[in-house]
Amino acid sequence: MKHLRFRTALLGALLTSAMVPMAARQAQAPAPAVRAFTPQDTIPFDAAVRTGKLPNGLTYYVRKNSRPANRVLLRLAVKTGSLDEADDQQGLAHMLEHMAFNGSAHFPPGQLVSYFESTGARLGPHVNAYTSFEETVYMLDLPSDKPEIVEKGLTAFADFAGGLSLDPAEIDKERGVVIEEWRGGLGAQSRVRDKQIPILFYHSRFADRLPIGKPDIVRTFPPARLRAFYDTFYRPDRMAVVAVGDMDAQRLEDEVRTAFGALKPRAPAPPPRKDEISFSGCSSRSSTNGSTRSRAVLTRSSCGPEFTARA
Ligand SMILES: [Zn+2]
Repeated sequence: MKHLRFRTALLGALLTSAMVPMAARQAQAPAPAVRAFTPQDTIPFDAAVRTGKLPNGLTYYVRKNSRPANRVLLRLAVKTGSLDEADDQQGLAHMLEHMAFNGSAHFPPGQLVSYFESTGARLGPHVNAYTSFEETVYMLDLPSDKPEIVEKGLTAFADFAGGLSLDPAEIDKERGVVIEEWRGGLGAQSRVRDKQIPILFYHSRFADRLPIGKPDIVRTFPPARLRAFYDTFYRPDRMAVVAVGDMDAQRLEDEVRTAFGALKPRAPAPPPRKDEISFSGCSSRSSTNGSTRSRAVLTRSSCGPEFTARA
């Protein structure tokens, strides 16, 4: 009897312990199934971003973001940089970035900087742009409480994209600015870098195309060579506009479409860039084209333990 009571008590305890969590589970909402992450997964695109491609091939990304209030951040990303320069154009991708602030269809020389500085923005190359091996990016952070300022910002970007004057007299003035920038970068660090780069970028185009370029070329290039780089590589299908800020997203999208809709390519599309990089005698030939974001990738070579890199 005693034994039975013990068994009954045990059964009751087991039932109770089983039932309490069950009751608790019934009270809770069912937990959503979480799929395990795998490194091959594509990062989901932010659903709040409005994106599209204009008929001319330019891509845009627009998103409302109310913090900070009354600010809009604009970016124009151009898929070109120093790797696209011909031998006699070394330094001209960077020179072009400087010339964006020195005269265009809607902003005579000097006016672009003075207009945006009057809105409280800091302006000029290096503050508002950078040139790298594979991309050139322009940046404007503007107040959004006066819509005409944002409109002007997009007009300036459209000028960068297709309406630069590249006036020879203005180019001559800017040569000295860029030479000073090159000179300012000299020093112990640059001497170490000059030793490292041929090893780090062994036999690759990256080793031969530092964005600062060659001072002799910057001093003497004919303006037509800068124009040729601009017309060939500043094409709408190699560009993206990003506009994020405290502004109605539909309005921002409409303004982007209006500002860039009429942009046209001014020269035939360049052939895909070919980069051959060889590490320890094992070479790999690859190419990039305008449809994918080019990036440095290290892959194990089939001819040994060395690595090949493609860009
Ligand atoms: Zn510069």
